[in-house]
Amino acid sequence: MAVLARAAQHVGPAAMQRAEATLLTMAERMDPGQFTGVVRNFEHQVDAQAVLDEANRAHRRRFLHLVERGDGMVKLDGLLDAEAGAIVRSSVNARMLPGKGDDRTPEQRRADALVEVCRRPGAGSSDGSGPRAHLIIRATVGTLLGAANAPAGELDGGGTVPAENVLRIACDAALTRITGKGELEGEISRASRTIPPTTRRALAERDHGCVAEQCHRPPAWTDAHHLKHWAHGGPTTMSNLVLLCRPHHRMVHEEGWGLHSLANGRGALTKPRPHSRSA
Ligand SMILES: [Zn+2]
Ligand SMILES: [Zn+2]
Repeated sequence: MAVLARAAQHVGPAAMQRAEATLLTMAERMDPGQFTGVVRNFEHQVDAQAVLDEANRAHRRRFLHLVERGDGMVKLDGLLDAEAGAIVRSSVNARMLPGKGDDRTPEQRRADALVEVCRRPGAGSSDGSGPRAHLIIRATVGTLLGAANAPAGELDGGGTVPAENVLRIACDAALTRITGKGELEGEISRASRTIPPTTRRALAERDHGCVAEQCHRPPAWTDAHHLKHWAHGGPTTMSNLVLLCRPHHRMVHEEGWGLHSLANGRGALTKPRPHSRSA
């Protein structure tokens, strides 16, 4: 019931009262993980801005400690938001399968898998056109279009993310696959697209990295950003694409910063107006 108490804080007592009976019935029928997802969707439908604000606060709490101990070993300790957690989990899980006669514990295999991931950072090529970490998100068309009352996106393997997060991940669709829910499945699979490696290489040549002013992050650290999102009919062509590093890409989508093209091919970021949801 802690989940419901938190939801009441987020959506206010009036909205909570209207939905409480339905939610309580569902709580009895579902396991806690499923029910948390249902409540998150309810919050997103009532107040998507509050869910985005909370996701942004959660993102700011991220950290990773790598502490060398007296005995020479290194202790890892950290906290990631839902998206980052899903990326790390999918990369690590893919490498932790036991071999024949493998007597390592699951914890040892997970530790080895993490080191393996770090040992081979060259999964993508230097222009960023190579294969990316695989991330699957389920979202409705309404979520992609930023419609009022749209549910949150759901990460494969658990966790929900606000609509802006889904839009950013879908923006460079080479990063992920968006799958539909229910009757909208057909529409979504047609809508999702990948940026061809040739376009990606041409972008790296033209932009030389993140286009944000003062930013010099190289192409391998960037996403291709649609100036007009494909969910809103923007084409996946050079004139509608620029490279943005991941922190700047996040600022544009989740934090509502404006991006204005400059004559020199760079982009100026302008501070968000309070509580403006980006397109
Ligand atoms: Zn984008
Ligand atoms: Zn940047």
